[in-house]
Amino acid sequence: MAAYGCKNLVFSSSATVYGWPKEVSCTEEFPLAAVNPYGRTKLFIEEICRDIHRSDPEWKIILLRYFNPVGAHPSGHIGEDPRDIPNNLMPFVQQVAVGRRPALTVFGNDYSTKDGTGVRDYIHVLDLADGHIAALRKLSDPNIGCEVYNLGTGKGTSVLEMVAAFEKASGKKIPIVMAGRRPGDAEIVYASTEKAERELNWRAKYGIEEMCRDQWNWASKNPYGYGSPE
Ligand code: UDP
Repeated sequence: MAAYGCKNLVFSSSATVYGWPKEVSCTEEFPLAAVNPYGRTKLFIEEICRDIHRSDPEWKIILLRYFNPVGAHPSGHIGEDPRDIPNNLMPFVQQVAVGRRPALTVFGNDYSTKDGTGVRDYIHVLDLADGHIAALRKLSDPNIGCEVYNLGTGKGTSVLEMVAAFEKASGKKIPIVMAGRRPGDAEIVYASTEKAERELNWRAKYGIEEMCRDQWNWASKNPYGYGSPE
């Protein structure tokens, strides 16, 4: 990039760099930790970005820490289509709703949360996309340096709340099976959104109802994603 005179970068990082946060909401100043190999890739690349900027301050870098992106494009033509068994909650719920899997396994119902299930900050992919546009605008600020922003809604939603919202949006029953905690999972993670609101002039517009509505629209139109039935 430097060889071609491009010294502006927006990096897709992740809230996973907060590890198991001791408290919420997570501010950008929280200590960072890698608690799984995926998180380590994000943390290392963040560090590399900070080093690039230190070594050559002409670089302007924005690190965006995504919380839990869900939903789909409202057209129903673009959405998530994981290969194999989905690791993430909402793609799995979606596959149960269209009849590709019999039930959702809920990983842990003994957390210190409102209903015992894990709490996350789900963010609509449209809001996430807008956050990137806001970040690109911010790169025109000559004083930007290397900055980090959370992209989340600031609201925590439990697994069971998310399942209920998806059932409402789809009219489908999502059978669940309770299981033990998934190793490495944090209990409660949600964003502090103040810095992004203040400095990027961006905030999430959509709630879990719209996320589930648009995800169901994509799923019901494309039950096998971009492929054909297995
Ligand atoms: N989860 C679950 N069943 C699944 C997948 C996820 O109960 O099949 C839970 C998981 O334990 C967590 C939440 O859903 O509390 C979000 O998980 P996801 O993997 O989507 O995001 P992450 O844990 O990386 O934030």
